[in-house]
Amino acid sequence: KPSSSIKMSDSGDLRVPHVALLPSAGMGHLTPFLRLAALLASHDVCVTFITPNPTVSLAESQSLTNFLMAFPQITRKQLHLLPLDESCANSEDPFYYHFELIRRSSHLLSPLLSSLSPPLSAMITDMSFTSTVLPITDSLGLPNYIFFTSSAKMLTLYVSFHTMLGPNHTIKDDLQVPGLGPIPKSRMPPPLLQESNNLLKTFFIENGKKMTESSGILVNTYEGIESETMAALNDGKVLRKLPSVISIGPLAPCFFETSQQLQWLNDQATGSVLYVSFGSRTAMSREQIRELGDGLVRSGCRFLWAVKDKKVDIEDDEKLTEVLGEELLERVKKNGLAVKNWLNQEEILSHPAIGGFLSHCGWNSLSEALWNGVRVLAWPQHGDQKVNADLVERIGLGTWDKSWGWGDRETVVKAEDIAQTVSEIMGNDLLKLQALHIRDEARRAVGDDGSSTKSLAALIDTWKKFQ
Ligand code: UDP
Ligand code: UDP
Repeated sequence: KPSSSIKMSDSGDLRVPHVALLPSAGMGHLTPFLRLAALLASHDVCVTFITPNPTVSLAESQSLTNFLMAFPQITRKQLHLLPLDESCANSEDPFYYHFELIRRSSHLLSPLLSSLSPPLSAMITDMSFTSTVLPITDSLGLPNYIFFTSSAKMLTLYVSFHTMLGPNHTIKDDLQVPGLGPIPKSRMPPPLLQESNNLLKTFFIENGKKMTESSGILVNTYEGIESETMAALNDGKVLRKLPSVISIGPLAPCFFETSQQLQWLNDQATGSVLYVSFGSRTAMSREQIRELGDGLVRSGCRFLWAVKDKKVDIEDDEKLTEVLGEELLERVKKNGLAVKNWLNQEEILSHPAIGGFLSHCGWNSLSEALWNGVRVLAWPQHGDQKVNADLVERIGLGTWDKSWGWGDRETVVKAEDIAQTVSEIMGNDLLKLQALHIRDEARRAVGDDGSSTKSLAALIDTWKKFQ
């Protein structure tokens, strides 16, 4: 879309493209945007990174500081969020609430974007802001690509959801796309099935509709694991009018985090340790935490366990003894290591002692697991995680016990079940081999001739021509 604000360089040369990135709240959104920024910079794209300010978690602000120090060539611009009003204050989740806050501050982007020099070639926006940011970039004549930070399978639900609504705004059926396995209602994020409106449902409806008007949709996935889904999206089987969906993953970890002392891990035998983590924003009930701890001890396996007691890290201030109780903590210490602070997960998953990952199936955690060839025991807790867990099982990266349900506070999975499933997966040598095979394929996708590398290079060429 040529426009008055974006001109061909005077000489008509292909210039260095300049791209602005706008991530959403939470590490699950920030991390893939940082990885994408680093990747674009390595392809000689000039990158402006827009950071909504303040962040929800300390992890986000620390990660940003470290990143910007490691990549001085990337420019940061802050989007100062407007003060809260009361209308959505009783939000179900502090992160969704922050999405809404950024959405309501989106108009502040207009002067910010048009003041950038050299003028932008394109913008890359988190999917959560599609409906509020596209009108702004449209009025500036700026191509806007949506970066969808979950799986392509989840994208099929995101763009279809608004078409599936019945009377009362409820969903009656599973999502069926010709040629793809269904997404049963029971695997959809539970808030989507509620009759009443909630933030997540509104995001799905508003953003899902508007995605058809974007210049393209980027997904952190690759042909090897989601080729049918990618084909269905690009062949118009999911929705007739979608822009091209481009797989650019798995985005490689980039090393800017300060590394941690892992003496305990260094002392463990190769492939012997199960890493247990439910990501950056999921806290289990105390009761479930204690059953899990008991189950891990009873499994007889070695484990490294990131215990999370509150959704937002700054509020997670109780000591391990209080969360686990002294007796359980003593038992835990005999077989494993429990920590309550932020761990650099990439460093852990790439450690030779790690042999398995008990994961909530956040998309970044899965992409890090396959990047490192670590088999996964899936325990989805909310959101997109059951859809992702299904993929884990289908591609042979790991197992998923569906009877464990969502991580809601009504059901508690018992220690005996956890112990048994953990010892089964740690003893499963076939999965171990499959995970290594998946790692090789994942790395090929982003290697020199890989499918994701080629797609990204083609995209950057488009931006060069647009200048
Ligand atoms: N993460 C980490 N240390 C932790 C918890 C999480 O490094 O203690 C990282 C993890 O490696 C991943 C991101 O935070 O890159 C979490 O994203 P994901 O999509 O897995 O889940 P979410 O936290 O959004 O539920
Ligand atoms: N499938 C899907 N989404 C995908 C990939 C596959 O729903 O992204 C479906 C696919 O249509 C097939 C089943 O899942 O019916 C198994 O697919 P998989 O990729 O495991 O193996 P293959 O299709 O090669 O047998």
